[in-house]
Amino acid sequence: VAIKLGSVYGIPILIDYSWFLIFALIVYTVGFGLMPSQYPKLPELEYLSIGLLAAILLFGSVLLHELAHSIVAKRNGLKIGSITLFLFGGVSQMEEEPPDPKLELQMAAAGPLTSIAIAVITGVLWIISVDSNAPVLVQAPLNYSLLVNEIVAAFNLIPAFPLDGGRILHSILWYFNKDNLKSTRIASKVGQGFALLLVFGGVFILAAGDFFDGLWIILIGWFIWSGARSELSQMVVHRELSELKASNVMTSNLDSVAPEMSLSDLVSEFMQHRHNGYPVMSNGELVGCVTIDDVRKVRKEELSFVKVSQVMTPRERLITINESDSAEKALALMNANRIGRIFVLNDKGKISGIITRSDITKTIQMKEAFSGGTGAGSSGGAYSETQIPVEKGMLFEIEPKIGIGPDWQASFNSNEFMLVSEKIVELSDGRQTKQFTFQALQKGRFTILLSQGRPEPGKKAQSIAYSVIVN
Ligand SMILES: [Zn+2]
Repeated sequence: VAIKLGSVYGIPILIDYSWFLIFALIVYTVGFGLMPSQYPKLPELEYLSIGLLAAILLFGSVLLHELAHSIVAKRNGLKIGSITLFLFGGVSQMEEEPPDPKLELQMAAAGPLTSIAIAVITGVLWIISVDSNAPVLVQAPLNYSLLVNEIVAAFNLIPAFPLDGGRILHSILWYFNKDNLKSTRIASKVGQGFALLLVFGGVFILAAGDFFDGLWIILIGWFIWSGARSELSQMVVHRELSELKASNVMTSNLDSVAPEMSLSDLVSEFMQHRHNGYPVMSNGELVGCVTIDDVRKVRKEELSFVKVSQVMTPRERLITINESDSAEKALALMNANRIGRIFVLNDKGKISGIITRSDITKTIQMKEAFSGGTGAGSSGGAYSETQIPVEKGMLFEIEPKIGIGPDWQASFNSNEFMLVSEKIVELSDGRQTKQFTFQALQKGRFTILLSQGRPEPGKKAQSIAYSVIVN
C-alpha cells in the first residue's frame, strides 16, 4: 500500500505507509537518542528539529539514489514503472531489463555514485559549518547526512543480488562471458555466499552479547539470501520464455460458448469444467471473452434473462497476441493488463489458441525437466523429472508437452495421490498427449512416474518422473 507523492522526470514517486513509521522512528532515535550524546544540553525543541531534518535528509538521499538509477535507465530508452520508498530504502521498478552489460553497469552504479556524491558534498558543508561555528541545527543534520549516505552507498555496494553491487558484479561477468543467464547464476551464488557470511557473522555477534546489531545483520543476510534466489528464478523464466513462441505454449483445443447463451447455462458450464473463463465464438469467429467476474456483476435472479453477449468483454477490447510472438510477451501483456488469459491469433487474424498463466508455468516446468534431466539414451528410457509444488487436497494436472500416447500409465503410491481422471488432449502443434489429473492426499515430497505401455519394437519403454512437493 503506497500513496503517490508526485513525479519527477515523468517517473511516479510512491511512498509506502511503512515510511511514516520509519520517519517517526528516525526523528526519535536521531533527535532524542543520538543527538543528546553528541550535542548535550540543548532545548527539547532543538532535538526535535534536528530529528525532523535528519529524517527529511534521509528520505531525500534515498530518493535521489533511486532517481539516479531510473534517470539513467530512462535516458537510455528503458521503460520505468515507478519508485517506491519503503522500509529499508527504495525500490525502482524497472519494466525492462537492461539489454547489454554496459548499460546495466551504468544503471547500477548510478545509485551508489549519487550517494557518495551527496556524502562528499554534505561532508564538505559540515566541515565548513564546524569551522565557522554554525548553529548545531545546521551542523548536526549535515553530519547525519554524511553518515547516512556513506552507509547507503556501502550497503548497496555489497556484491549480492538484489543490491546494486550484485548488479554491478553481474554486468562485469556478463561483459566478459557474454552469457546473461550464466552470469546471473554466478552472481546469485556470490550473493548467497555473502548472505551466509552475514547470517553467521550476525549469529556470532548476537552470541557475543550484542543483541541488536546481531539481529540487524542476520536480517540483512536473510534479505539478501531471498533476493538472490528470486532474481535467479526470474531470470530463468525470462530467458526460457523468450525462446518460445506463443504457439508453443498455447492451448489450441478451445472450449467456447455462444453469445446467445444465458448466464445461468454459463454458470453450469463453469461448474462442470472448472474453467474461469471462455472465449465467445459465433460462426467460428471470436467475438469476445466471458469470465466468472463478468457473471458476478449480475444479480442471481436475473442470470437466466441475461445473455453472454451482454456481459462479455467484446473482441475489440480483448488483448491478443500473434502466434509468432514470444511467450515472454504473452506473460508481460498478462501482467501489464492484470488478466489471466490472452488470445492467440494466426497471421490471418483468426483465433488459434489461448494462453493462460498455468500454460506458462507448465511449460516452464517441462522445459526445466527436459533441459536439466539426464536425457534420453539411444536405448530409450528417457528419464527426467520436474518439481511440481501443490497444496494438500488440491487437484493438479500432469500433461507432458512431449506428446505421449494413450498407452502411457501413471505409477504412484495410492496413499499419496488419487488419480481423478485421465484424458487425451491435443497439444498446440497438433500432437496428442495424455493429461492426468491427481489429487494430493498428504504432505511431503513424492514421485509420480509416467511410463509408456507399448514401446516401439526393440526399444525400451520411456518414462518421465515427476517430483511433486505437497505443502
Ligand atoms: Zn540502488
